[in-house]
Amino acid sequence: MRKAGRVVAEMHSKTREAVRPGVTTAELDAVARGVLDRRGAKSNFLNYHGFPAVICTSPNDMIVHGIPAPSVRLDEGDIISIDCGAIIEGYHGDAAYTMGVGSISADAERLIRVTEESLWAGIEMMHEGNRLYDIGAAVQKVAEAAGYSVVREYVGHAIGTAMHEDPQVPNYDPGSRGPKLRSGMVFAIEPMVNMGRPGTRLLDDGWSVVTADGSLSAHVEHTIAILDDGPEVLTVPD
Ligand code: MG
Ligand code: MG
Repeated sequence: MRKAGRVVAEMHSKTREAVRPGVTTAELDAVARGVLDRRGAKSNFLNYHGFPAVICTSPNDMIVHGIPAPSVRLDEGDIISIDCGAIIEGYHGDAAYTMGVGSISADAERLIRVTEESLWAGIEMMHEGNRLYDIGAAVQKVAEAAGYSVVREYVGHAIGTAMHEDPQVPNYDPGSRGPKLRSGMVFAIEPMVNMGRPGTRLLDDGWSVVTADGSLSAHVEHTIAILDDGPEVLTVPD
């Protein structure tokens, strides 16, 4: 899973370098495909329930699952969430980031920073002795303390020989602490944080999820293993 995670990290760095005003989301998908091909990795996004690309590209008020297209061109001041995955030797990696296109507003910068902080607060909970829903409770606390809301309808997940394994990992406190965390478990933690209300709406393409109130949304994700001495983030460079 480390090997798969390294490939996902490279998809992140290469697509980050390609994000600029005027780029299309189809061009970003092609950059990510190039990394998969060079590393001999398979895509876990392509053909997933019919998804037509190797990354999801979700600008501005789009929360997740946006479909890359030649007609979607990024503009100065946009924010873009890019979610990538890879399979190596049957094992999966899955991670997402959100960044600005050119220069962005201070409000948008803050949303991205707080969303990243909420992910790291969740990761800090990932050690033996804690329970699964402690992760989302920590995510929610950081996001809401900043005046934002966390999405309820889409959640993180266990990951291994499939991208989406049970159990799910909510990004909020569901009112109980859930199952015990054990060394050897691996989860994809992925806060989706809205500047406004938490509600979501699915667009007619059957994939794209946007904020119901039109507010900006950020999404960040890592694949993290729980080891005897604490969490190891797998979707980072070696
Ligand atoms: Mg993902
Ligand atoms: Mg995921």
